[in-house]
Amino acid sequence: MSFPPIRPELAGIEPYGAPQLPVDLVPVQLNVNENPYGPSEECVADIAASAGEAARTLNRYPDREFVALRTALASYLSRDVPGEIVPEQVWAANGSNEVMLQLLQAFGGPGRTALSFAPTYSMYPEYARDSMTAWVAGRREDDFSLDLDRARALIAEVRPDVVLLPSPNNPTGTALPPEAITVLCEAVGDRGVVVVDEAYGEFRRSGVPSALELLPAHRNLVVTRTMSKAFAAAGLRLGYLAADPAICDAIRVVRLPYHLSAVTQATALAALRHAPELLGNVDQLRAQRDKTVAWLRDQGLQVADSDANFCLFGTVGDRHAVWQGLLDRGVLIRETGPDGWLRVSIGTPEEMAAFEDALVAVMKEMA
Ligand SMILES: *Cc1c(COP(=O)(O)O)cnc(C)c1O
Repeated sequence: MSFPPIRPELAGIEPYGAPQLPVDLVPVQLNVNENPYGPSEECVADIAASAGEAARTLNRYPDREFVALRTALASYLSRDVPGEIVPEQVWAANGSNEVMLQLLQAFGGPGRTALSFAPTYSMYPEYARDSMTAWVAGRREDDFSLDLDRARALIAEVRPDVVLLPSPNNPTGTALPPEAITVLCEAVGDRGVVVVDEAYGEFRRSGVPSALELLPAHRNLVVTRTMSKAFAAAGLRLGYLAADPAICDAIRVVRLPYHLSAVTQATALAALRHAPELLGNVDQLRAQRDKTVAWLRDQGLQVADSDANFCLFGTVGDRHAVWQGLLDRGVLIRETGPDGWLRVSIGTPEEMAAFEDALVAVMKEMA
């Protein structure tokens, strides 16, 4: 017998995660789609004061139903829809990754199936495995869009209990049109839930609607968001969803007691009060993204249209060599997506200039 006595399907598996390298070693970090702009001193002081206030009652368990935070998140989301999102439709956890795991614990499980369309977010199959949910990945088309007839046919065949789809998609940046979400929700019906992961929703190009608008039409639709990307608060660990209140009630059954600490709740509420500032650089990042897409295309590379704060480009031949060449020049990007493609997060203008210079040098060296 080998030790430790872990579940056999987990034996020998390396824990997942993008490389985390110290900034003094790699000054330009464009690998995990973080917002490059940190909070102002004023915002830092307000967050610190709120965390300090929460510290006064740390002897007590926090509000298990985090009513104040759900109310603040509901009003934040309501800005994106014609109607209103109410607090009963909102759920939150420690990052949208925890929200995703809770969804699979509640709606997946042994004998049940989760479906996505590759290339897709690399964490989903891990949560399927951890919740003992069968995992099926269909394919996106060559331009990373979804062929709706094929998607419908796959759903009829697989009969998924959970469909997981990032929009904008990670790692491609592709947003799903509302028609696609409607087709998926109708094909799945009340047999399952369709989770549209809008981690990058705030970066979508103008005219691209949010799936939040479709919530009144589909009670099996779940839209997840996070404070990790546009909101510039990846360190906070706060992800959330909007859905039918019955879906939130189902998740309550599987959540850990008091899963959102008093400090997390206070910090998230303070960050939401500073939403205009924290989201203040989103327009600049969108413009920088469009510039980066155009620049990469000028280099003769293929670039997927992006509604996110990153772009996927290819094909670069030996992508590991390109990734390594960039790293040797102090620029960390991500080896992900189809073979021969790489993903770069959008940073400050200075960081993007460093990326472009390094990429030109690496490509010249390899030619
Ligand atoms: C970054 C990302 C998230 C966010 O995860 P958090 O746990 O909220 O930090 C969720 N989904 C996708 C597709 C992502 O790329």
